[in-house]
Amino acid sequence: MSVGTESMQVDRTALRGYVVEPGDPSYDTDRKIWNGSVYRHPAIIFRCLGVSDVIAGVKFGRASGLPVAVRSGGHSFPGLSTADGAVVIDLSLMKGVRVDPERRTARVQAGVLLGDLDRETQAFGLAVPSGIVTHTGVAGLTLGGGIGWIMRKHGLSIDQLVSVDLVTADGEFIQAGADRNADLFWGVRGGGGNFGIVTEFEFRCVPLGPQVMAGPVFWPMVQSPEVLRFYRDWIADAPDELMTIVIHRMAPPLPFVPAELHGKPVVVVASCWAGDLEDGERVIRPLKKFGAPVLDACVPKPYLAHQAMFDPSFPAGRWYYFKSCDVAELSDEIIDITAEHSLQISSPLTTYPIWQMGGAVGRVGDDETAFNGRSAGFTYNIGGCTESSAGFDEQREWVRDFWSALQPWHEGVYVNFLGNEGAERIQQSYGPKKYERLQSLKRKYDPDNFFRINQNIPPN
Ligand SMILES: Cc1cc2nc3c(=O)[nH]c(=O)nc-3n(C[C@H](O)[C@H](O)[C@H](O)COP(=O)(O)OP(=O)(O)OC[C@H]3O[C@@H](n4cnc5c(N)ncnc54)[C@H](O)[C@@H]3O)c2cc1C
Repeated sequence: MSVGTESMQVDRTALRGYVVEPGDPSYDTDRKIWNGSVYRHPAIIFRCLGVSDVIAGVKFGRASGLPVAVRSGGHSFPGLSTADGAVVIDLSLMKGVRVDPERRTARVQAGVLLGDLDRETQAFGLAVPSGIVTHTGVAGLTLGGGIGWIMRKHGLSIDQLVSVDLVTADGEFIQAGADRNADLFWGVRGGGGNFGIVTEFEFRCVPLGPQVMAGPVFWPMVQSPEVLRFYRDWIADAPDELMTIVIHRMAPPLPFVPAELHGKPVVVVASCWAGDLEDGERVIRPLKKFGAPVLDACVPKPYLAHQAMFDPSFPAGRWYYFKSCDVAELSDEIIDITAEHSLQISSPLTTYPIWQMGGAVGRVGDDETAFNGRSAGFTYNIGGCTESSAGFDEQREWVRDFWSALQPWHEGVYVNFLGNEGAERIQQSYGPKKYERLQSLKRKYDPDNFFRINQNIPPN
């Protein structure tokens, strides 16, 4: 049976998966993405089950002349995996993961979420560096770089990437790795979805766990200036095994948080030690002993449990707004601005991370990949959140004010943490040299800018 937009028909029988259009019973579910503030109505959604469906989607997109969006995990902050009136090529049903424990590699289809990948790799005491919320998509995260709990020891997700399978804007299937299409392989390691649709990734795996020394330590948020000054000095010479994230928020009503803390403003340092548990205990001890923490939940635990720690704070459907920047260091001024603005948080759902960067991330040559944040000291990902539209404008204003207050110290920005911020910010994210190189790659692989619903690098 043929279905499709008014001008174009899709041969449903030629697909392994299926298409969804306005009026279909699942349309309202299938069109939704993670950020509830993004409410779009695509013309047609290709629910792909394999490479042949992706090729069919690309060819349909070409022939229809409609804009084409690509979706894997659907976690783009600004919603760049859907658009009104677009053809959405949705890979979220492509969930295959195959770990080769002997070669220590993993083949991962584009619809796989971080938690799926962690489960498969941890079955063999292995891991692929990824992010910190298990329902994020491996695809979009990796194509932008991929920062997470074990990056300071094992690098970004792209630093363990061996090759990709990709469908080009012409519907051709190609592979890229160090030995084939090396220019493209450079570009997909940070350049996002600009050059084609990745259908499968091959990663190297690293040994990890299954237990790690990890978790959060809480202090009252009014103590943030002292905690952050101590923290800055404590991590100054931290071994690569240690990765930390600072969080300011109202304490969430989670089972491990005592009831008397719920809703109270706290500053949290969350750690993850990717190494020997006793060494981790020794290195993290000074943090636990600083001042008088109101909660210490940093203990040996399964890596899988630690990876899922932030999941309850970022459910799908809430309204989210982010603005991000890298800074070189946590100077006294930056610390004081951070504490002052954090104390103004008015939504119990607003929570934002300050990421400790460096370690192995900074030791990969800057020109080796398109990712551009290797020298960042810290990454602020300032995010506001509400349950629905009510109160959202206020959170967004808070995010913007805080981000602007840090502007004198902005150094760069991680492309996966960008919103809809315009061409100049995308250029800033890559810097002029890499941006130029990415543009010339775009001219080679997608000269018509077919893949443009993304953090776009236009060919000219
Ligand atoms: C709750 C949450 C937690 C996060 N945590 C982290 C973190 O710890 N570390 C980190 O580095 N980032 C993190 N991010 C940011 C994340 O990396 C980006 O949002 C990323 O784009 C998500 O990928 P996705 O596949 O889920 O998203 P999607 O919305 O499906 O895609 C994002 C972008 O990538 C493109 N794309 C998706 N799939 C493909 C593909 N197969 N081929 C080509 N292009 C494709 C899309 O077109 C879109 O432009 C987080 C985001 C959220 C919402």
